[in-house]
Amino acid sequence: MGKKTEAGKAAAQTQTAKPLVIGTVVVVVLLAILFLVSQKGGNPTAPIAPVDQSVLVNQPVMGEASAPVTVVEFGDYLCPACKAWGELIYPQLEKEYIDTGKVKFAFVNVLFHGEASELASLAAESVFAQNPEAYWSFHKAIYDAQPKQDHDALWVTPEKLIALARTHVPQIDLTRLEADLKSKKAAPELKVDVELVRKYRVQLTPSIMINGTMLNDPFDYKAMKSLIDKALGGK
Ligand code: CA
Repeated sequence: MGKKTEAGKAAAQTQTAKPLVIGTVVVVVLLAILFLVSQKGGNPTAPIAPVDQSVLVNQPVMGEASAPVTVVEFGDYLCPACKAWGELIYPQLEKEYIDTGKVKFAFVNVLFHGEASELASLAAESVFAQNPEAYWSFHKAIYDAQPKQDHDALWVTPEKLIALARTHVPQIDLTRLEADLKSKKAAPELKVDVELVRKYRVQLTPSIMINGTMLNDPFDYKAMKSLIDKALGGK
């Protein structure tokens, strides 16, 4: 009888042990999922990596130089998602953080679409070299000129870029811009950008970096906001 009871106890223990093991597995899996989800848009518990300010050297920067947080867009003028980002997300960032002196914003050229990306970037760098103040109007004009439908259409030509400059940044020396495009004068600046793309392992455009932390989904403004707020030392 006593033996039977012991055996019964052992059996009961085995039975309760099984759900325990299953329960542990479930908890581990749930934790792993939670971890992966929290990675999206930046891990809320991980500290924001500091920014290496050398990323900003000779780059167009929007906002106050003293702004405590740095946001860098790695973008390509030929990329439809970059155009969409500029229209949907950037205005919110500008209003909430750049205009209020909390964020400075830089744009680094990505040349994933070959010669056309290079040509548009050469023009933007040339305008920036001539007149940094004029840069952002020209930058926006290029994205505005990107066709909404036929992305493969040949829309980036020297003539088109010069026409855009004539309309949107009339203070620019157009003859100099034309000569700069012909001689690829800004090739060294593009080389710097290509190096940054390699250094930060940019695979997709746009890629948005908040200080030294890359945002997983550039269109997740809430995640961007929470990373910026954390970098600001609040909330
Ligand atoms: Ca650049």
